[in-house]
Amino acid sequence: MLAMMRQMNGAVLLVVVAVALVMARVPRAGAGSQLPDAATARTADKLFRLDCGRSLANDASVWTPGQNVGRSVEFSSTCWLIKHGGEWLVWDTGVPEAAHDDPKGWSTLPGLIVYHLDKTLTDQLAEIGVAPSDVTRVAISHTHGDHIGNMGLFPNATLLMQRAEYGWINSPDGPNDNVNQLMALARKLLGRPRNLRLVDGDLDVFGDGSVTLVSTPGHTPGHQSLLVHLNKSGFIILSGDVAHLEENFRNDIVPSLNTDRAESIASMERIKQLIATYNATLFINHDKAQSDQLKLLPAFYD
Ligand SMILES: [Zn+2]
Repeated sequence: MLAMMRQMNGAVLLVVVAVALVMARVPRAGAGSQLPDAATARTADKLFRLDCGRSLANDASVWTPGQNVGRSVEFSSTCWLIKHGGEWLVWDTGVPEAAHDDPKGWSTLPGLIVYHLDKTLTDQLAEIGVAPSDVTRVAISHTHGDHIGNMGLFPNATLLMQRAEYGWINSPDGPNDNVNQLMALARKLLGRPRNLRLVDGDLDVFGDGSVTLVSTPGHTPGHQSLLVHLNKSGFIILSGDVAHLEENFRNDIVPSLNTDRAESIASMERIKQLIATYNATLFINHDKAQSDQLKLLPAFYD
């Protein structure tokens, strides 16, 4: 190489060095990516939907700014249970079981939204012979109260959440009072998790491409979605709150509660790309019309 360089004139040598430097900085395609290779990804065994509450909000325009002012809207709350070999993973833990059968309901933002829980998580798991103590991993999309209401049920589980989310709820209040209330409630409901794994960006949870945390910030600073690969159903994306309604997802509509509008839109665009890449199906957590059509435990996707 050195002998070759000596024979080159200065100009050519400069070009060779410049190209070598550029090539050294360009990572190999896909290097370091935690996203699965669609052709070789393994599969999880089963995906169950659990009813984790339902809610009524009195002003839909919080979720569709400028539209539906003063109109009420109903949302579903959904948790998911994944069987992977001998392990059980729960995705989001829903409205607190203390709200079960309480006619007054429970709220994250009193004055805006009221949640009801018709069936406890514990009772639903029991229907398929699973005890909360069997659950080895809990992953949460984000820390809003309706997604983390039952963290204490799973003492044996490792909690998977984004480091950015954990840092955010422990940071000083911002300008939006509703958001500040949600942060305070998040600190209370999360408590001090015994087995906490803070994640930076995407994560291949089982190391085999079957279950992947996908970073989709914007609704909150450390929001994430979940990409699940199944044998018959193919790839399914569990939204978290990357969008609340199909219409919002289609039209890039960002709720006023979201912490970052530009990030929210970028995350919806990212999910659209993943849907195209993996020919994936998107299940939108709070879209009641869609959720009502989906299988419910003990039925499952496989
Ligand atoms: Zn949320």
